[in-house]
Amino acid sequence: MVAEGPVCPPCPPLMRLPENEDRSWARRAIDILEGDGRRSADTHLIKPVFRGLKGISIYLKDESTHPTGSLKHRLARSLFLYGICNGKVRRGTTLVEASSGSTAVSEAYFAHLLDLPFIAVMPRSTSGQKIAAVERFGGRCHFVDDPAQVYSEAARLARETDGYYLDQFTYAERATDWRGNNNIAESIFEQMRAEEYPHPKWVVMSAGTGGTSATIGRYIRYRNLDTRLCVVDVEHSAFYEAYLAGNLDATCSKASRIEGVGRPRVEPSFVPDVIDHMIKIPDAASIAAMYVLSERLFRRVGGSTGTNFFGLCWIAACMMAEGEEGSLVSLICDSGDRYTSTYYDPDWLTKNDIDIEPYREMLETFLDTGEFDAKSLLLDRLPANRNSAG
Ligand SMILES: *Cc1c(COP(=O)(O)O)cnc(C)c1O
Repeated sequence: MVAEGPVCPPCPPLMRLPENEDRSWARRAIDILEGDGRRSADTHLIKPVFRGLKGISIYLKDESTHPTGSLKHRLARSLFLYGICNGKVRRGTTLVEASSGSTAVSEAYFAHLLDLPFIAVMPRSTSGQKIAAVERFGGRCHFVDDPAQVYSEAARLARETDGYYLDQFTYAERATDWRGNNNIAESIFEQMRAEEYPHPKWVVMSAGTGGTSATIGRYIRYRNLDTRLCVVDVEHSAFYEAYLAGNLDATCSKASRIEGVGRPRVEPSFVPDVIDHMIKIPDAASIAAMYVLSERLFRRVGGSTGTNFFGLCWIAACMMAEGEEGSLVSLICDSGDRYTSTYYDPDWLTKNDIDIEPYREMLETFLDTGEFDAKSLLLDRLPANRNSAG
């Protein structure tokens, strides 16, 4: 008897190697994505003048000038590259995302460039302006009644269409090459190179996915800089409590009013260990800072840029109180043109019970004279935390 041994699978009848169809599509796709990068100059790092801030230089990285109008242009490009280079996104792959905001707009743009179907899963309450922007690029919007359903619905649609869930909240932190490759951190530090204080004392950034702050925090460590990272959070968001309590299960039941930032749950792309400090900022302060900065730049910025700018002023005031000098960097995340019917509409502010005047006055005085009068403003005006550990 012959002992049974492992059986070798039969060789294919003809020695033929597989076609390279998928790879040639991927090569063409990468060319197109790189073309978008080649046609774009680096975004400006602007240095506005604030006469009151003696010894402190302020820099703002202007991400509103990307072809799709926000910092999500970088993220969308990275998520597409990530999907293609992992072999998940191929010719004809349906792309799905959970986003009612800037990410969906930027992704719809790239999907159009690559001729791929794109579906954005969004709450039914999403503004018509946003829906129109996605549809203009040929994307489709799929609505859910409960905003908490967007993730599972996006995953389901991707399964059913044999498509790919881009999943910004999970992949933002890993789709971006944190060591360099012209990521936002590398670009900022390169542009700062010949400034009076080339290594900022602090970089200030708000968190939506958390991906941008993760990239900046990692890069600071990688390049062995003494720069620190401050993440600013908004009223209705889980990040701040999660950071303070070290509890990544923290949740917030109310939706953030500052678009693009603040989340009901701690997103997987939020990396608390590279954050040196967090500040929670009242929405009225964010919007006041948005107005003040817009006036001084002669153009409108968005709400999350206001959050960033208020945090930056807070840190500048602390530095000045300590007699410290140096530079501070933050971001202009998008333009204010998107918010004419919300933050820039006085009726919207009234309806949302947002009084920006005290903060506005305080900031104007600070920027012109260096006097920062925070008494009675920040801490006791911050509404009670509605977060609850989940
Ligand atoms: C996404 C977003 C942010 C936050 O960036 P993340 O990298 O997602 O944390 C800030 N502002 C706007 C307008 C955004 O769309």
